[in-house]
Amino acid sequence: MRLSKYFLPTTRKVPSDAKVPSHILSIRAGLIRQVSRGVYNILPIGYKVIKKIETIIREEMDKIGAQEILMPVIQPAELWQETGRWGEYGFELMRLKDRLGRDMCLGPTHEELITEIIRKEVHSYKQLPINLYQIQVKFRDEIRPRFGLLRGREFIMKDAYSFHATWEDLDKTYEDVKKAYSNIIEKCGLDYRIVEAESGIIGGKVNHEFMILAETGEEEIFYCTNCDFAAKKDLAQINRAIKEAKVNVKDEELIEEIKTELENKNELNEIKEVATPGIKTIQELSEFLNLTPRDLVKTVLVYGEKIGFSAFLIRGNRELNINKVNNFLKDEVQLVSEEQVKDKPYIKLGFLGPVVLKDIPIYADYEIEIMKNFVAGANKEGYHLLNVNPKRDFKVKQYNDFTFLQVEDKCSKCGSELIESKGIEVGHIFQLGTKYSESMKAYFLNKEGNQKPFIMGCYGFGVTRLLSAAIEQKHYENQITWPIQISPFKFHMILINPHKEKLKQIAEELYQYLLKNNIEVLYDDREISAGIKFNDADLIGIPMIGVVGNEILKTDKIEIKNKIKNKKDLILKEDLLDYITTESNI
Ligand code: ATP
Ligand code: MG
Repeated sequence: MRLSKYFLPTTRKVPSDAKVPSHILSIRAGLIRQVSRGVYNILPIGYKVIKKIETIIREEMDKIGAQEILMPVIQPAELWQETGRWGEYGFELMRLKDRLGRDMCLGPTHEELITEIIRKEVHSYKQLPINLYQIQVKFRDEIRPRFGLLRGREFIMKDAYSFHATWEDLDKTYEDVKKAYSNIIEKCGLDYRIVEAESGIIGGKVNHEFMILAETGEEEIFYCTNCDFAAKKDLAQINRAIKEAKVNVKDEELIEEIKTELENKNELNEIKEVATPGIKTIQELSEFLNLTPRDLVKTVLVYGEKIGFSAFLIRGNRELNINKVNNFLKDEVQLVSEEQVKDKPYIKLGFLGPVVLKDIPIYADYEIEIMKNFVAGANKEGYHLLNVNPKRDFKVKQYNDFTFLQVEDKCSKCGSELIESKGIEVGHIFQLGTKYSESMKAYFLNKEGNQKPFIMGCYGFGVTRLLSAAIEQKHYENQITWPIQISPFKFHMILINPHKEKLKQIAEELYQYLLKNNIEVLYDDREISAGIKFNDADLIGIPMIGVVGNEILKTDKIEIKNKIKNKKDLILKEDLLDYITTESNI
């Protein structure tokens, strides 16, 4: 493609709401233009990248036997009413009426439509399993569309849905898709981790997310430097045995042993009240008592509509993980305010402790169970208690994991070092089970001749989001750096001076030669200064840039800036084709 003819509007003008590199660079490098909030035109060079990603997705989905279909964007409300999601989905579902006044919506996802197809067409276990996918535009009226294509209202998703007679069969396809997704991301040249996740409004039990590692990611994750352990910060489990004993164990017996040992070590000392005037924070308290935050216990009071008040005990160096608390209590809790406890004189929020909390149930983090003689609030203004001990001084209703994993905890699986990082979710796979088939009465006859609901899986992958995630992970300062696998062109050729006849002739010949040999080349033949050409080339991000300049007149050599391998090369023009093929074949 000749740059002089290509519709590639690079610009310096970036709207003020463009904050993250992928958003800024997508506009600057002429990939996208905004139409309205979270809705974008995708211009030729952007669409080229999208088509490459789609090709990789198709290859991998086809390889595991999934079949491509295309369902409509517009969907009738009746199907959504059958599953109850017409109500549940809220404002994110874009609703509209047709000319007959019928309720419709723009599909944010397609579980209802696909289940409708299958319940009509498939009746026997002999027709199973089936795995169907599409690559299509989705609409979600996101409350905060932002970061360009990372969180749009209209975006391209690959969604797949599988139907099974047995759970074992679903497991198999689920693993196939997991592998396919890993292959897709690897083929796109990106670094990623797989984490367990919560299913939200889509439903189901087992589910995993695919995170592209990038500093600007919205998700906080941990991953291990040694094994495949990776988890979202909100959900990451802490392996108490590893944490306490710093050994690599998982079995219950050993955990018990460690606990018993720790219990035997220290005597229980006599509980003592100590005046701690004016002390508010854990840091101040530990300094005042000449202890570390690890020797203190924080008592956090929460309130939930369903469950009322509950107190949670956690070690002083940790924070309460409200997400874990909510999952545990099956409620939505909030931290308690002074106002809420003004009729409970035994509660002093700044000096909370587990001793004498009257009718308020106490839950404690696993760590508390094996702590001895710790410090806690005295439920009395300006006082704390020393030598507090569970069982003897207060009763714990249940122990569980209520805190966030921290880097110091080490890997929950193998005990190695952890890395705390940010991730961008590009894929989400779910074992849905029978949630949709039951509510939509989608049944088949099993081997024994009994009617059963289909067992389902669903698998989403954000195509437009992946494009942005690739920019986020690989950009360098103000330059996109495309992984060669999804780069819009393989080679960016700059003609330094089009007014030099000889130079132009060589460049034209090279361009034709590369085209003839099926190399996707972007040829900057514009009659503008070389400086602008170099800047544009860096901005656009094709990772192999060749310069046709004076060098070629002298030595027949073309200068190459190779960002794939981070090097510069001088290549004889007759070796160029080989060079491009070899270097881009990774
Ligand atoms: P998020 O938590 O980021 O809103 P989600 O859990 O709602 O994502 P899914 O319903 O699992 O997303 O959709 C599957 C995939 O579609 C996501 O992994 C993501 O790659 C993509 N996706 C979802 N919402 C958007 C959006 N607003 N813009 C771009 N891509 C999106
Ligand atoms: Mg969402």
